[in-house]
Amino acid sequence: MLSGRCECGKVRFEVETVSGTVTACHCTQCRRLSGHLWAVTHAPMAGLHFSHDESLAWYASSDFAKRGFCRSCGSNLFYRLNDEDEIAIAAGCLDAPTGLKLEKHIFVKDKGDYYEITDGLPQMQRF
Ligand SMILES: [Zn+2]
Ligand SMILES: [Zn+2]
Repeated sequence: MLSGRCECGKVRFEVETVSGTVTACHCTQCRRLSGHLWAVTHAPMAGLHFSHDESLAWYASSDFAKRGFCRSCGSNLFYRLNDEDEIAIAAGCLDAPTGLKLEKHIFVKDKGDYYEITDGLPQMQRF
């Protein structure tokens, strides 16, 4: 069981099982919304339980997906394909120790020009 929260604490949750790996997304949208790259782990929706969600809001970031964030502090917390039973959870909002490991980089074709990826992990042009 992992727990996590937004910066101000108005969104708090526990998640029963996660995929065990972390993916770093370098797409333009993630970079704009997060300020840099955005790293997530994945979990079944059914295993995600909120103890506080009064300031959780959803932004329809495309025709096929939405992003969950805290309306109060602005933390970027979730990404979910519409109607899919899985949710991506921002690794940065999970409480340590997570036991997770960064596994790969995706959408590297869209990465910023101000940094290099030097950790030797797989780099996908898309996903
Ligand atoms: Zn917050
Ligand atoms: Zn992305």
